[in-house]
This record gives sequence, C-alpha cells and structure tokens, in this order.
Amino acid sequence: MLIDTYGRAATDLRVSLTDRCNLRCTYCMPEEGLPWLAKPDLLTDDEIVRLIEIAVTSLGIREIRFTGGEPLLRRGLVGIVERVAALEPRPKMSITTNGIGLARTATALKTAGLDRVNVSLDTLRPDVFKVLTRRDRHKDVIEGLRAARDAGLTPVKVNSVLVPGLNEDEAPDLLAWAVEHNYELRFIEQMPLDAQHGWKREDMIAAAEVLAALRTRFDLTPECAGERGPAPAERWLVDGGPHRVGIIASVTRPFCAACDRTRLTSDGRIRTCLFATEETDLRAALRSGAPGKEIARIWRLAMWGKKPGSGLNDPTFLQPERPMSAIGG
Ligand code: SAM
Ligand code: SF4
Repeated sequence: MLIDTYGRAATDLRVSLTDRCNLRCTYCMPEEGLPWLAKPDLLTDDEIVRLIEIAVTSLGIREIRFTGGEPLLRRGLVGIVERVAALEPRPKMSITTNGIGLARTATALKTAGLDRVNVSLDTLRPDVFKVLTRRDRHKDVIEGLRAARDAGLTPVKVNSVLVPGLNEDEAPDLLAWAVEHNYELRFIEQMPLDAQHGWKREDMIAAAEVLAALRTRFDLTPECAGERGPAPAERWLVDGGPHRVGIIASVTRPFCAACDRTRLTSDGRIRTCLFATEETDLRAALRSGAPGKEIARIWRLAMWGKKPGSGLNDPTFLQPERPMSAIGG
C-alpha cells in the first residue's frame, strides 16, 4: 500500500497523459501556451501501462483518473484504457477532459473499458466561453457531453470554475441545465495553480458564495451529514433529489486529512499532492530496467513523505513550479 506518516493510504492514481492543451483557460494557462515537454521526456504508452500495472498489482491502487493537459490529445488513449481494463484487479477508470473530441471518441472509450468522464465546462454562453478559454469551441464541448452520456460513460460529471466578471453569475443557470440534462455538476474553487501566477485569494469565488447563489433558486440539503470521506466534493441534494450538486472547496474547506491521491506526471514523476514542491522520478528507474519491486519501493518511499496538507492557507505557502496543466488536475 501507499501509506504516509499521517496514516492515509493512497488508492486513487491521477495519471497525466500530456501537458498540452487545445484550450487556454484563463485560470490555467497563458494565451500563448507554455513550453511543452519534449516527446522523449514523455512516458510512452507502454511505460504508462507498466507503471499503472505496478500501482494496481503491488501498491493498492483501485482507481485511475486520466487527465492532463488535455488527455484526449493523447493518440494512444483508447489503447491505454483497453490495456488497463485488462489488469487484475481491474481498477475503476475515468477521465477529466475539456470535452473537445469526445463526440468522436466516447463510444470507443466506453468499449475499451472507461467507466466515467468528468467534462469541464464553466459557462452556458458561447461568447463567455470564447473569452474564458480563448477558443471558440463551446459547441464541441456540448456535443462531447451528450456523446459521453449516450455512450454510457455515466454518471457524467461537469466541472465548473467561476471567474469574477465572466461567469460568476451563472451558478444557478449551470445547475438548472445540469439537472435538465442529467449531468452531475461540481463547482471547483479557483486554486493558485495557474501558470501565470495571477491567482488572488480576494478574487476567488468561495464555496460559501456559490452555495448562497444556488440557494436563491434551489433547495439544497447536505447529502450526508458529517464525514465526506476522501471525496473532495461536498454534495447536496437538489430540491430533495435525486439530482445532486457538489462543491470542491480546496481553498476554503480543504480535505487533505482524508486525501487518498497519488499523482503521476506525463514525464514520469510522482507527486504526493497538487501543491507538492518536490517530485520523485520513476522514469529513470523504469528506463534503466529496474524491476517492478524496485519501482514500487521508490513510489512507496515518495508517498511516505507526503505532507499533512496543501499548505495553501499557511503564510509561508509557495505556489508549485509546475502549473495545473503540467501536473494533471
Ligand atoms: N484539460 C482537462 C480539463 O480541463 O478538464 C483536464 C485537465 S484540467 C487541469 C482539470 C481540471 O482542473 C478542470 O476541471 C479545470 O477546470 C481545473 N482547473 C484548472 N486550473 C484550475 C485552477 N487554477 N483552479 C481550479 N481548478 C482548475
Ligand atoms: Fe486546458 Fe484543462 Fe487547463 Fe483549460 S483547464 S487550459 S482545458 S488543461
């Protein structure tokens, strides 16, 4: 198992498949993009599957989430999903995507063994989408969402970040739309992980504000009183259910004490946390022909050093060097 000194066990592996993206969300990337990782630095499809196999068979990982950058840009994605689905024990598999291209690939991904998707969509207004993501692709995302639902990649979850001056007034509209289309909506508090280092706490729309805005139109009751476990989203039943809405309040209500994550970057480094400032390289060991046992040992040692929390609310907090898109959000 991947245990740390605070007694947490990581059972959920986030795998970043690429640092590249076809959108430029303002809270994530600058308009001109970023210096992308060079191809030889990226793990190959075989290397990714090998590391996932070690994680699943030797380290207690039960859930895999593919992310990026934009994971649908990874050519070998369907093949990777197929090979991971054949592992014993078979982990649960999902993907976090901006949805562009999902209309084309949803059925193939489902057939390959993908269980679920999270699609990121911050606005229902194509003009606002164009400003927020700096690309005119709103229609593609809507089509991708529909295809995912029709392919049975359910429950389809939608991730939304609210940005002041752009979509901050859209929370109730987004929820009404999600309920109508049978998507599960989750709002994410904006975090200091943008490549431009432009995050300001005072600009962030906090969970409490989102909740207050939603309550102007909906009756929300907490889904379960008390513990929310390792799930980052706190969830509410909408108008008595069965629809739900979640809020991931990483900044104002951190859930680090119950964290069950370990992360693999597309260049083969382990991160214990989104906000970790240190990484552990697995690629070198992998490429030097180290046996699985040795790779598992390095991974365990890395996770043993996991800090108790993100440090986000400490006065000494320093934003990690890698932005969200290169870590794998
Ligand atoms: N490109 C894919 C997507 O957008 O879904 C996967 C990667 S993206 C980094 C994963 C999630 O992180 C998205 O839901 C996105 O909205 C969110 N995200 C990106 N930057 C963020 C930030 N600074 N604060 C909070 N969430 C952020
Ligand atoms: Fe791309 Fe996702 Fe970042 Fe938007 S949030 S720029 S879609 S990686």
